[in-house]
Amino acid sequence: MTNPVFPDVRMNIVRAADPVTARVVSNELCMRGKSASFVKHLVLDIGDTPLQGAFRAGQSFGVLAPGEDAQGKPHKVRLYSIACPTWGEDGEARLISTTPKRLIDEFSPQTETDDPDDHHLFLGACSNYLCDLKAGDEVRLTGPNGKRFLLPASPADHDYLFIAAGTGIAPFRGMALELLENPAGPCKSQIHLIMGSPYTTDLLYDDLFRRLAEEHDNFHYHTAISREPRSGGRRGIYVHHLIDENIDVFRPLLAGPRTLMYICGLLGMQNGIYQVLVKHGVEEGYLTIGEELRSVDPAQWEDKQVRRHAKSTPRCMVEVY
Ligand code: NAP
Repeated sequence: MTNPVFPDVRMNIVRAADPVTARVVSNELCMRGKSASFVKHLVLDIGDTPLQGAFRAGQSFGVLAPGEDAQGKPHKVRLYSIACPTWGEDGEARLISTTPKRLIDEFSPQTETDDPDDHHLFLGACSNYLCDLKAGDEVRLTGPNGKRFLLPASPADHDYLFIAAGTGIAPFRGMALELLENPAGPCKSQIHLIMGSPYTTDLLYDDLFRRLAEEHDNFHYHTAISREPRSGGRRGIYVHHLIDENIDVFRPLLAGPRTLMYICGLLGMQNGIYQVLVKHGVEEGYLTIGEELRSVDPAQWEDKQVRRHAKSTPRCMVEVY
């Protein structure tokens, strides 16, 4: 079994008390088609700031949105994964990118003191601010953040299973480009990317991933669409259903001693993935499962139990929120 060695990374070079100012280069929709959602590919110029050259693929930066929250306090730092490789969008780590999504929702009562009939329109402060930005606008940034959701120091020593839900695809865009379009030559490892979206139109960077799959035999792009019926009247699927239904494809990859698994997206999505791994007996190397959970049928596992009793190993990177 090959545990990964991760590169050293720099963290928190720039803090909220003294953020740097980045300038917007471009801000364009990156969905496959017309959708009820709005997701952007936002490119920021951090050239000549302490952040230039400081990020590695998979890390995040902080954004300080202007204005105040409902309590009249300045907005807190919100983290966004970079969507570019270590060398940025420009090859010089001057331009970094991320994948903000407009948060447009209804307020739902959270505590006993909240009015149960209050369902007013709720807009996320920071993601909508980022989605509104135009070329030339300034943004206050901090970072870098994150030291575990990284490619290993020797990428060719491993194979990869990347599993994303929605904007959780951001770090995998950077990692796929880092592995496949590396100036030192493409990585020949097996790389599977599974992307989960509500509708086909919501797929993010779909053109890019299709192009990479056409150009590289070792890159495999799978999509799990949850809200569209499939042929034969079958229901839509989540990412873990895709693994379950195609276990013949994924078993050799997961059983390989050098494979690394990365999960990014929604809180709780790891539960379904872990259940499928255990169902097919391929969890070894990725998970340590406590006795409390071993005695429960995986199909019955609850998120709370999984968080407490299923621990990811160094070969399984999970970033969900
Ligand atoms: P989205 O477009 O709504 O897509 C999420 C997909 O996952 C949908 O198809 C959804 O299906 C499905 N899904 C729902 N519950 C699931 C479960 N338990 N297991 C597997 N799949 C499930 O996603 P989004 O609005 O962009 O949200 C993405 C999330 O990723 C956000 O919470 C964001 O904060 C997080 N994120 C994290 C990072 C990071 O940690 N670095 C980076 C970027 C984004 P249905 O909706 O049809 O049920």
